[in-house]
Amino acid sequence: MIGGGPAGIRAALLAAARGAAVTLYERDRIGGRCLWEGCLPVKALLSYAKVRSAPPAPEEWRSQCRSIRSRLDMLSESMSGQLRAAGVTLVKECVSPDALPEADAVLIAAGCVSPALPAVEGKTVLGPEGLLSLPEVPASLAVVGAGPAGMELCQIFAALGSAVTVYEQADAILPGFPAEGARALEGVCREAGIRFRKGVRPELAALPQSHILLTVGGQECAFPRDAESGRVLFLGDAGGRGTTAYEAELEAERAVAALWGEAVPALTAVPRCVCGLYDLVTVGESSPRWGEAYSDGNGYAFLREEMSGFVRLYAREDGTLCGAELLLPGGAELASLLSALIRAGASAETLAGTAFFHPSHSEILRRAAMELL
Ligand SMILES: Cc1cc2nc3c(=O)[nH]c(=O)nc-3n(C[C@H](O)[C@H](O)[C@H](O)COP(=O)(O)OP(=O)(O)OC[C@H]3O[C@@H](n4cnc5c(N)ncnc54)[C@H](O)[C@@H]3O)c2cc1C
Repeated sequence: MIGGGPAGIRAALLAAARGAAVTLYERDRIGGRCLWEGCLPVKALLSYAKVRSAPPAPEEWRSQCRSIRSRLDMLSESMSGQLRAAGVTLVKECVSPDALPEADAVLIAAGCVSPALPAVEGKTVLGPEGLLSLPEVPASLAVVGAGPAGMELCQIFAALGSAVTVYEQADAILPGFPAEGARALEGVCREAGIRFRKGVRPELAALPQSHILLTVGGQECAFPRDAESGRVLFLGDAGGRGTTAYEAELEAERAVAALWGEAVPALTAVPRCVCGLYDLVTVGESSPRWGEAYSDGNGYAFLREEMSGFVRLYAREDGTLCGAELLLPGGAELASLLSALIRAGASAETLAGTAFFHPSHSEILRRAAMELL
């Protein structure tokens, strides 16, 4: 097993549980990009930003970052302990792409190579991995790239008091996401004071901001993908098929099952989420038949002054749900429920007849389902 991120950890634990002698090579600390740079630190910063009413003083910010880093250290230690307890041999080593270890199977879960950060005189250029080392919240921040990471981080730093501008080379934010949801999220961000410059590839040295956060790139794996064979498999970000930790874990489970000759059903309706003041979720497929509901009909949203949300549910001709888009505070928590409903072939009628807790954001799902009846 090469790489101790979500894919490598999951595959190592499963293979060990099946009796394989597993060695996991990790060049750094266990946890991968998810733990050290992506999912966990970003979501920890988001939770912190959401409860603040004023920008943190530098000492408070540094103390928060220290606290997050120490909790990440503990998580990494706990993951290493879990792997050792399962009988996995951990080796701290950077494996060369030219010298793969000898084994019956080699699973490469080494993630992607982050692009090198250019030096720009008079400016601090950083990637997501550098955020917890910032001595203070930047007064002005350019976020380059309006993909999921850029859109999450721009909201966090705007809420923490930075003057944020997002630069995106495409004409719209969140390329690959449904246009309507992306537009609605952009509206929420603009209301929060974030500025957008779309259709531009900025010259970094010419940007007016003191700090530049690069969230673009990182698709290439250091191991040549044409090495894939029956014995050598690529998982997670290294495989270039998915870009999330939960896809990486699911891929790992499927790869291990396949190595043991088990049937692996197709993976469908994988949700994609962008978390922020409102979470944007898209799952499944669109269809010409859809029902929609808006937050302004939801008393809970009204009381909390959260009026910009919506849910759109897509159904096939026979009424079974096939896709959904939503923009709601905390909406990512609903993503997997929607995925499960779609995968189970549930109908709009089932959802419309389901009791939802009141008051809640999720009530809006029922109202959208009723529009489909
Ligand atoms: C800012 C940001 C926010 C994100 N937010 C989310 C989110 O909210 N939810 C989500 O699901 N995903 C999120 N992601 C994506 C998620 O972090 C990745 O998809 C996930 O970490 C991929 O897991 P992986 O195991 O494939 O690779 P990685 O996590 O990249 O792990 C690869 C591991 O391999 C090691 N390695 C690399 N080369 C070698 C070598 N030659 N020898 C030994 N070891 C090596 C690395 O040190 C690393 O530990 C985010 C990413 C970013 C950047």
